[in-house]
Amino acid sequence: MGKGLLIVLSGPSGVGKGTVCNELRRRLPDLVYSVSATTRNPRLGEENGVNYFFKSREQFEEMIANDQLLEFAEYVGNYYGTPRDFVEATLQSGKDIILEIEVQGALKVKSKFPEGIFVFLLPPSLDELKGRIVGRGTENQATIDHRMSVAADEIGLMENYDYAVVNDEIDQACHRIQSIIVAEHCKIRPKCEEIAAR
Ligand code: 5GP
Repeated sequence: MGKGLLIVLSGPSGVGKGTVCNELRRRLPDLVYSVSATTRNPRLGEENGVNYFFKSREQFEEMIANDQLLEFAEYVGNYYGTPRDFVEATLQSGKDIILEIEVQGALKVKSKFPEGIFVFLLPPSLDELKGRIVGRGTENQATIDHRMSVAADEIGLMENYDYAVVNDEIDQACHRIQSIIVAEHCKIRPKCEEIAAR
């Protein structure tokens, strides 16, 4: 059995990564979602083990010390990280897995898994992005401003990704990502061979 695809989805806060990921999971039941660990507080409706594994800073730092994370990053004052064993076991079992993570973490994943497929989700415009974060109503003004400045930095790092997908409309954005996954599975020469041949 071949190894599954490691798909990394990034994009600025408010671009709709969560919504796109949920819709992709609904459409592609075989696509496995990596649940991250975080020290941020749960938002209304978020469940431990489903949206995130919610941890204290001490617990998170213990996971770092025990090398249990494939990558981790600090984002707007909180830790976020990807549990390593689950990703590796999923890929070994031949299934595709999607990681919804910010750019610093994605670059760390890229250094360990250059054969991963890196997809950057873009807002139709920065104004639209701010409107979405404000409209969500879950963040205070200082956090909104901070998330907007991080968003501009993140967009600057987009050139490290393989694909850019504009999230103008959820159905279209998902359709584009599904097409990318199909195309990657149809490749005659997988990315790891391409890299080895360089
Ligand atoms: P939020 O607080 O809005 O759920 O997430 C904030 C940012 O952290 C988002 O860009 C999200 O993609 C990112 N993120 C979520 N999980 C992880 C993770 O495991 N590692 C990294 N590096 N970023 C993550």
